[in-house]
Amino acid sequence: MNHKYASDSHNHSDCSPDGRSTPQSMIDRAHELGLYAYTLTDHCECNDYEHNYRGRAEKAWEAMEKVKVPEGLIFLRGIELGQLPEDPGAAREVTATYDYDFAIGSIHNIKDEKDFYYIDCRSKRKGEIDSLLRRYWEEELEMISLGHFDALGHLTYPIRYIQGEQGVEVDLTTHYNSIDEIFRSLIKNGKALEVNTSGLWGTLGMTMPDAGLLKRYYGLGGRLLTFGSDAHNTENLGGGIDQAMDTAREIGFKEFTIYRRHKPQMLPLE
Ligand SMILES: [Zn+2]
Ligand SMILES: [Zn+2]
Repeated sequence: MNHKYASDSHNHSDCSPDGRSTPQSMIDRAHELGLYAYTLTDHCECNDYEHNYRGRAEKAWEAMEKVKVPEGLIFLRGIELGQLPEDPGAAREVTATYDYDFAIGSIHNIKDEKDFYYIDCRSKRKGEIDSLLRRYWEEELEMISLGHFDALGHLTYPIRYIQGEQGVEVDLTTHYNSIDEIFRSLIKNGKALEVNTSGLWGTLGMTMPDAGLLKRYYGLGGRLLTFGSDAHNTENLGGGIDQAMDTAREIGFKEFTIYRRHKPQMLPLE
């Protein structure tokens, strides 16, 4: 890594249904890459907590307790809370049960819709796509008001699939007012914004949110940034983090943050 304090605060092991590498192999890879801090954040989909993720969260926590952490690496225990507004009680319970350092709040599917991973937007009109996006921003705003997390994950997640996978161009400028409202709410509530770099090793070709939106967040006074590759295996771990840190520095950010026991620890972007 080029950045002295490069840290990856969003990624998955095989404790997530879509993860492929063991927690130990992820940690060993983080050390090999020379990451400063490494936070593992396996999935906990709140809307499927009762039947599935209560048990999964327990297994993931046990796995994190068993790992051997190589000397020189800071290992932090995290979780990615999906669809928090659909069951805030699940988020409350899981974060009260385990002593996480960090919780990401993420929306993968809006209420009564499939995960954007499964929605084919190539056959949809622009108006329909815009309406899905508006509902997405509304649920992110709702999630911020509910709490139980530290950083908002992949703010522009639908774009990963609509534009990155399906090649349907989305003009976000007409959504700037809604997104600015999300930024203001994050700032007011002391929550961080994640720079998700999966688009730099994946098909999207940019971070989520992209540099233009990061500039707006900065302009509104946002200073809490986390960085996460969203890797689901050792090969993608740390992917795009150095590049995204360069971009943040060019925008004017001097620091970013990692979380310990849900408290931000500021680190220089050097
Ligand atoms: Zn996610
Ligand atoms: Zn993730």
